Amino acid sequence: MVATLLKRRHHIMQIRENHRSMLQKKFDRLLVIGFISGKDLGYKKNQMHVICRCDCGEVCFPRAYGVLTGDTKSCGCYQKDVARATFTRHGMNSSRVYKIWHGMTTRANGKGQYYERYGKRGIGICDEWRNFIAFHQWAIKNGYDDTLSIDRIDNNKGYHPKNCRWVTIYQQNQNKEGTIKLTHNGKTMCLSEWSRELGIPRNTLHYRIFHMRLPTTEAFKRTLHCKDN
Ligand SMILES: [Zn+2]
Repeated sequence: MVATLLKRRHHIMQIRENHRSMLQKKFDRLLVIGFISGKDLGYKKNQMHVICRCDCGEVCFPRAYGVLTGDTKSCGCYQKDVARATFTRHGMNSSRVYKIWHGMTTRANGKGQYYERYGKRGIGICDEWRNFIAFHQWAIKNGYDDTLSIDRIDNNKGYHPKNCRWVTIYQQNQNKEGTIKLTHNGKTMCLSEWSRELGIPRNTLHYRIFHMRLPTTEAFKRTLHCKDN
């Protein structure tokens, strides 16, 4: 019993000694210039904190333990610098790829407005692509450029390398169109079926509906008449 208490007391003394030895020493970007208790900082736990001046000029109060073990290396500016360097290293394209990645992860989380089209259907994202850098590398390797959008090859499957490709907006509309049914005179069919039914080339119908945005009553006419005002 006494031995345990002594051991514990020794341990505490040792920790205090370690803390004292931190004063005026440099730990990565942090220079320790003083001590402050957790209570004084308004924390519930009364752990030992150190007052540090960071290389960037900020003064911060991290836990002494974190600084000692190397878990805390800066006031927080180190993480920001790493993120910025990664972003710059990947060039000008990064901001658009990032927006695409962000949109994709938001949809694939399948919450809120995305529940019906994504969450409910189990359209998710692979673990690898939850990391932006990994997605960015795949994008560049697979012919990304600023005019292309990400497209799921099989609409019922999620976002992962084998089911995705970069396509033009036009290709993407064509891909989606297979799932879009058009109703006319009480009959519902997809575009190819309407093309056969009406004897109008599929491309013509596609152009009228997706580019001219005509209603089916107009788009399905054999010939279109220009209206004179
Ligand atoms: Zn800093």
